[in-house]
Amino acid sequence: MTDLSTRNRVHIETFGCQMNVYDTELVRALLGKAGFTFTEDREQADVILMNTCAIREHAHDRVYGHLAELKAIKRARPLVVGVLGCMAQNLKKDLMDAEPVVDLLVGPDAYRRLPDLIVEAAAAQDAGLAQRSMAVDLSEYETYEDILPERTHGVNAWVAVMRGCDNFCTFCVVPYTRGRERSRDPHGVLDEVKALAAQGHRQVTLLGQNVNSYRHEQWDFARLLTAVADIPGVARVRFTSPHPKDFPPALLDAVATHPRVCKHIHLPLQSGNDRILDLMDRTYSRKDYLLLVDEIRRRNPAIALSTDIICGFCGESETEFQDTYRMIEEVGYHSAFIFKYSERKQTIAARKYPDDVPEPAKVDRVNRLIELQRSISLRRNREMLGCTTDVLVEGDAKKSAGQWMGKTDANVTVIWEKGDSPTQPGDVVPIAITRVSVTALFGHDVRSS
Ligand code: SAM
Ligand code: SF4
Repeated sequence: MTDLSTRNRVHIETFGCQMNVYDTELVRALLGKAGFTFTEDREQADVILMNTCAIREHAHDRVYGHLAELKAIKRARPLVVGVLGCMAQNLKKDLMDAEPVVDLLVGPDAYRRLPDLIVEAAAAQDAGLAQRSMAVDLSEYETYEDILPERTHGVNAWVAVMRGCDNFCTFCVVPYTRGRERSRDPHGVLDEVKALAAQGHRQVTLLGQNVNSYRHEQWDFARLLTAVADIPGVARVRFTSPHPKDFPPALLDAVATHPRVCKHIHLPLQSGNDRILDLMDRTYSRKDYLLLVDEIRRRNPAIALSTDIICGFCGESETEFQDTYRMIEEVGYHSAFIFKYSERKQTIAARKYPDDVPEPAKVDRVNRLIELQRSISLRRNREMLGCTTDVLVEGDAKKSAGQWMGKTDANVTVIWEKGDSPTQPGDVVPIAITRVSVTALFGHDVRSS
C-alpha cells in the first residue's frame, strides 16, 4: 500500500465557472478527510489535479496547455496527474488516449471515489505498473449533501443548491457533462448557510446550472431564496445562473423586495432573434424576454441586469445578429459576457446544424457587441456619480494595497482609498461615488474625515 504520509501533497487548478470553484472546495474537503494535504506550489506536489470546463473550445485549449507543462515535471519525479470535471466527462477515453500524462479522469458526479483512485494510481506507479483509471458515471442523485466544502474565500460562500441541467439548449454541453437536474434538501441548505453565517461569511451565492428551476417537494426557488436571506448574519444573497423561463411572480417579488437579496439578476439572453432563439431551444421569444425585463423593472427599477450572449450561432445572419445588437441597446444591461459560438461534441447543435458562420464574422460580431456593451456600462456607471452607495468590502484592490475593493448591491466593483475609519473585509460601508470607468466606480468612505 502506498504510504499517504510521504505522497500526500495535492495541488488543484480550477478552470471555468463558479460551480467548478465550488466543486474544487468539495474535492478539497473529500481529500482532506482522507488524509491529503494541499500546496499552492505545483513543484512541491505529489498529485496535480485540474478541475476543468468544457463549455467552449478555448477552455479545452487551456487545459491541454497545462497538461503539456506537466509532462516535464512527471519525467523528473513521481507524480499523479488527474483531470476532473466537465472536460473529463465530455471527452472520456479520447482525452486518455490523447494525453498519456493523465493517470485519472474523474467526472463531476464521481468525486467521492477520488481519494481511493489517487492512492491506487500512486501504488501502481510505485510498482512500475502502467495503470490509468476513469470514473465518469453520471448520477441522478449525487448532490454531495453530506460534504461540507472546504472554503477558501472569506466574504462570499458559494452554495450549490442544485446540480445538472435538463434544458438541453442545443449549443450547450452541460446536460452531458453534469447530468440530470437534481435539487438538494432545503433543510440541508439552510443548515449549511447558518453555519456559514456563524463562521463570518457575509454573502452567500446560491449556485445551480439552472438555479431557479430548484424544486424539492413543497419548496421552489423563491421559498428557498427567501429562507436563506432570512438567516441572521447573512448580509447579502446572490444567485446564478437563472434561466429566463423560471421567474414566477413570487421569485420576482423576493428579489425586488427582500432587503438582503441583491438587486441584481443575471439573465442570460443568448440571442435577440426569434429564429435563433428557437434553434437554440431557449423556450422564450424576444418578446417574452422583454416582458420579463419589464416585470422586473416595474417591481423595482433599481434591479441591475447582466447577461450572456452567443455570437455566430449556426446560420446566424448579419440581420439576425443586429436583432441581438438592438436588444442589448434596448435592455441596457449593466454588464454582459459575450462569447463566440463554439461547437461542442455531443450537443444537439453539433449533430443537427452546421457551424457555418465564418470565424472572422464571429470575431467581428463579438467585437461590435463588446464595444456597444462598454458604452452602456459606462453610461450605467455614470448614473452613480454623486450618489452614496452601500459597498460590501471584499479586500485589497488588485492594483494597490492602499485601496479597498468591494461590490455594490448591483454587483458593480467599487474602489476607494483606505482612510482613517476602521474597515475590514465583510463590512458594508457607505461610499460616495466621485469618478467612474467602464468597469468600476471610484469614491471615498463618507465616514472618513
Ligand atoms: N445555465 C446558464 C444559462 O442557461 O444561461 C448558463 C451556463 S453556461 C456555463 C454559461 C454561458 O456559456 C451560457 O450562458 C452561454 O452564453 C455560454 N455558452 C454555453 N455553451 C456555449 C457554446 N457552445 N459556445 C459559446 N458559448 C457557450
Ligand atoms: Fe446549458 Fe441551457 Fe442548461 Fe444553461 S440552461 S446549462 S445554457 S443547457
